[in-house]
Amino acid sequence: MRQVLVIGGGAAGLMAAISAARAGAKVTLLEQNKQVGKKLLATGNGRCNLANRVQDLSCYRGSSPEFVRTALAGFGLLEALEFFHGIGIVTRERNGYFYPYCDQASAVVDALRMEAEHQRVKLALNTKVQEIFKEKGRFFVKTQGWTYEGDALILAAGSCAAPETGSDGSGYELAKAMGHSVIEPLPALVQLRSKDPVFPKLRGLRMEARVSLFSGKRFLAEDRGEVQFTEYGLSGIPVFQVSRYGAKALHAGGEVSAVLNFLPFLNREETAVFWDARIRQGAYKSIGQLLVGLFPKKMADCLLKRAGIPGGKAAGELTDKEQEMLRLVCTSFEVRISACNGFDRAQVCCGGVDTKEADPRTMESRLVPGLYLAGELLDVDGACGGYNLQWAWTSGYLAGTHSAAQPADESRAVTK
Ligand SMILES: Cc1cc2nc3c(=O)[nH]c(=O)nc-3n(C[C@H](O)[C@H](O)[C@H](O)COP(=O)(O)OP(=O)(O)OC[C@H]3O[C@@H](n4cnc5c(N)ncnc54)[C@H](O)[C@@H]3O)c2cc1C
Repeated sequence: MRQVLVIGGGAAGLMAAISAARAGAKVTLLEQNKQVGKKLLATGNGRCNLANRVQDLSCYRGSSPEFVRTALAGFGLLEALEFFHGIGIVTRERNGYFYPYCDQASAVVDALRMEAEHQRVKLALNTKVQEIFKEKGRFFVKTQGWTYEGDALILAAGSCAAPETGSDGSGYELAKAMGHSVIEPLPALVQLRSKDPVFPKLRGLRMEARVSLFSGKRFLAEDRGEVQFTEYGLSGIPVFQVSRYGAKALHAGGEVSAVLNFLPFLNREETAVFWDARIRQGAYKSIGQLLVGLFPKKMADCLLKRAGIPGGKAAGELTDKEQEMLRLVCTSFEVRISACNGFDRAQVCCGGVDTKEADPRTMESRLVPGLYLAGELLDVDGACGGYNLQWAWTSGYLAGTHSAAQPADESRAVTK
């Protein structure tokens, strides 16, 4: 019986261990925490957004979309949903986002753990892997008290995002020790920081907006949704979605700015018509009063200050230039981004083990036969919406299933 070792008891490692065991291997999973699935418990605000109906390749970022395309063709959304139904997780869908029906991430962890136990996966908990190496065709995994030995090894030790859940970046070091290159990991799905003095004043506001990110004049990415203003900068789903592009540009030494459009439901012409009508209708009001019912007071004050228009000025007396300034600050409110929050606040990392060094059909290392890589450890980061977990299920399944199969040269040797 083929012996498979799995490092990491997160989403990808659990999926890999179950898949390898189902394919006939004897599996040992090593996890440094006292429990498996600690990060999974925090996903989706404790509800676990485990997949998404929309499987557009643009939702998976990283150096190689082709790598993800090939992997998803081997185990995609439907296979993942079928897998979860098979282990007892009924799913519910909200706007394309899949969750367990009970809305509890703990149910997903419990179901995965129960299935791993049912498949006789040996769970070695409180077991931190310190070193790995391959000798005479076999893998050796050193922990403080023991050296484990196997025919195949799956590295699913995660990234360095949310390190309190166990993903402390040691997976990258283990991969490097086996000769792999790691594209510098940076925080992604994370808040953006700014030194602009507006932020302490806008703290606590939530507004619908389109966030467009630029590095100098170069457009990086945009997204629309509810933006949250914090003491130090910007948060909320649309900010998370674009953050990885900001992180990369800042890391490369570029200047990054976020441009907020607070009227994202209007195009340029409609915006002009909208303001003309509003000014005509409210010509008797002060400009401060004209913004009542459109923007929260704190934001209205801030916009007028930026536009250089005194709040008490009659709306009907605005000059053409002032009207233009008003339109501009409402649709192109620019703030300089100074940094991203750190790994401790990031949901995932962009960067990781270079996907050129793995086979997307099997997740086997192209450098070390018998070594498999899965999950966030690889240079694949998904958008918010279940894509990171889908990646964990996909890569975990492929790594597990293929690691359990006898390599062609070995099976030939046996039949000789
Ligand atoms: C707050 C939060 C919310 C999120 N919500 C969602 C969501 O709703 N939907 C979604 O798709 N994604 C979400 N994500 C992202 C998603 O959780 C991760 O992408 C995914 O869990 C990664 O799985 P993984 O198995 O690759 O890594 P991990 O889950 O990090 O697992 C790696 C495991 O390896 C162990 N390990 C590391 N090094 C060693 C070592 N040397 N020895 C032994 N064990 C080791 C760690 O302890 C850890 O348990 C969220 C992330 C966070 C932080």
